[in-house]
Formats: sequence, C-alpha cells, structure tokens
Amino acid sequence: MNLRIPGPTPCPEEVLAAGARQMMNHRGPEFAQILRRVTDGLNWVFGSSTDVLSFTTSGTGGLEAAIVNTLSPGDRVLSVSIGSFGDRFKSIAKAYGADVVSYATEWGEAADPAVIARMLDDDPSIKAVLVTHNETSTGVTNPLEAIAREVRARDRLILVDAVSSMSSIPCPVERWGLDVVVSGSQKGWMVPPGLAFVYMSERAWAANAEAKMPRFYFDAAKTRDSLAKLQNPWTPAMSVYYALDKAFELMRAEGLEGIFTRHEAVANYTRERVKAMGLKLVPVDERYASNTVTAVWWPEGVDGKAISRRAREEFGVVLGGGQGKLEGKIFRVGHLGWVHQADVAEALDVVEKLLAEARARV
Ligand SMILES: *Cc1c(COP(=O)(O)O)cnc(C)c1O
Repeated sequence: MNLRIPGPTPCPEEVLAAGARQMMNHRGPEFAQILRRVTDGLNWVFGSSTDVLSFTTSGTGGLEAAIVNTLSPGDRVLSVSIGSFGDRFKSIAKAYGADVVSYATEWGEAADPAVIARMLDDDPSIKAVLVTHNETSTGVTNPLEAIAREVRARDRLILVDAVSSMSSIPCPVERWGLDVVVSGSQKGWMVPPGLAFVYMSERAWAANAEAKMPRFYFDAAKTRDSLAKLQNPWTPAMSVYYALDKAFELMRAEGLEGIFTRHEAVANYTRERVKAMGLKLVPVDERYASNTVTAVWWPEGVDGKAISRRAREEFGVVLGGGQGKLEGKIFRVGHLGWVHQADVAEALDVVEKLLAEARARV
C-alpha cells in the first residue's frame, strides 16, 4: 500500500518495531529516560530552550490544549483561517466562549500579514491570534514568520497550528517569537497517531496563570509539573513514545536541514509532475504551496472520486480527498515524514495513467 494521505503517514519498519516493545511502569525510571530523550528531541525540532509538552491525544486535542491553557471566556481572539483546519481552530475557541473575530481568505490563498496587522491596529482588545502554519486541506503554507512579526510588534499572543508542518518544514518557535505551537505525531514525525506536542513561550505561561477556560485532562501546568518529575499526569500512549524515541534517532542522523531539504525536493518534484500533466494546483500563488502536501484540482468533467477509488483498489495507491467544500473537486498527495521521491512518483504514475483513460473516454 502506498499511503499518500497527509497523515497518518507511513512509518519506517524499525520505528514500528520499536513501538511493539513490552509495557513498563509509566512512572518508573526506565520510562523517565525515554520521556527525557523524547522531550529533548521535541525541543530540538521546535527550536525551544524550554521543555515542549506532550499530551496523549490527536492534533485536535493539542489545539484544544492551546486554547484552554491561555485564554478566558470572553477574551477577544482573531481567527486567521485559510481552510478547514483554520476553521476547526476557530470552532474550538468559540466552543470555550472566546469572542472570535474572523479573517478568512478564499481557500487556496495564504493569509496576508498586512491585513492581520491592520485588524490588530483597529482592535486593541484582541488578545490572541489563531493561525494555521500549514493548511493541510488546501496545501497552502502561511508566511508565518512575517505574520508573527506583526503580532509580536503589537504585543498580542500568537497561537499556531503547526500540526502538519513542524518537523518537515522550518518553524523555529523561539526565533520567530511564537507563543503556543501545536503538532501531532502522525504527520511529519514518522510515528503513529496518539501524541500531540505543545510548546508554550514565557508569555504563554504568563497568560496561563490568568486563563480561566475550563480544563482538566489538558491542563498544561499539571503536565509541566509532572514533566519536571519525568512523568505524565495520566497514563500516556507509551508505545508512541517508544516509536518516537527511535524516530528521533533517524531524524538526528539525517539532521534538520537534511529533512527540510528532502521535503522541499519531493514537494518540488510533486508540483512539477502535476503541472506537467496539465493539472492546476489549489494554491493560487505557488510561493505559498506547501512542502508537506500538494492539493490539485481534478480537471473539469472528470470523476475524481472514481479515479481515487481505482487508484486504491487496482494499484494500492491511497490519495487524500478534498475536505468540506472541496470534496470530490480536488485530490491531495501527502509528502511528509518518511517520504522519498519514488513514493510520490509511483502515486503520480498511477494518477497519470487513470486520468489519461478517463480523458480518452470524455
Ligand atoms: C491533521 C491536522 C490537525 C489535527 O488533526 P487530528 O486528526 O486531530 O490529529 C490539525 N491541523 C492540521 C493543519 C492538520 O493537518
């Protein structure tokens, strides 16, 4: 099976094998060592000099943790959404009683830092900005460093969904002045689903001391205090930690620059192949096209869902579909984590062949 959805992503055999290890005492010295090594690995990838927290949950749980640990009901928040995951981040804030102001682009477009700057200038009561680094539903990467610069200059908090970017494309949290940054294990980390990672800046911790949104399982302060004893407050997804411990060995051997360069090269290859087939990318401006997932319009008059089904059933190639209003209109190729050009080449060979057959029939 060639699993080409943007998460969960395929994992190296040795990582899966590491995850199959026998259970141990999750409050014992052996697991403490694993938690220390894994947290060091997270700090390395995030570019953080303080410990990144990990929660047993999926990426969405990490987004919920980001919200409830820094905000209070009634806090004014600017939601920057460029697709379905941006909308999800906003929905979580609303569910917990934030007073949400929206900046939404057309899907396929990136957010404009100047618009965010203007909205913050116009409304000094906005306390925090929610933004997606890499919008997995449209294959668009926001200019996060420039956005963060505007938010920082106006002294607001910036909460970032980096679920499908962190570990695959650069996102140095301290260098860019980000406040809360979330990622998820099943995306670029080469491990199964089960863990979300949450970085919090000093400013975020100061906000945490005042934050009144209800929280229990996702309490960051509890999690930080347990981590100081090299434990989790609750029973963690231990197998995913075992796997991640091994994945960090592979990542350190390749180096962060090597990982970023590989993702960039595979993404460039994917975009060039797709364009050479005469297909159109969903990102309107290719400068913002994602290096972890490529979203492509099915051509007019072609039954994309039927092609996806044949790709899976006859060739073992699993493509991502469109979400929300893009359902049936686009396909997505995930190229993050443990991915090489040959994986994408095989998938696109199949798409090319099935498309040619479909077009011949039209
Ligand atoms: C995958 C993803 C999430 C979280 O999804 P889960 O299914 O909860 O892990 C959030 N944001 C983005 C950008 C994602 O790609």
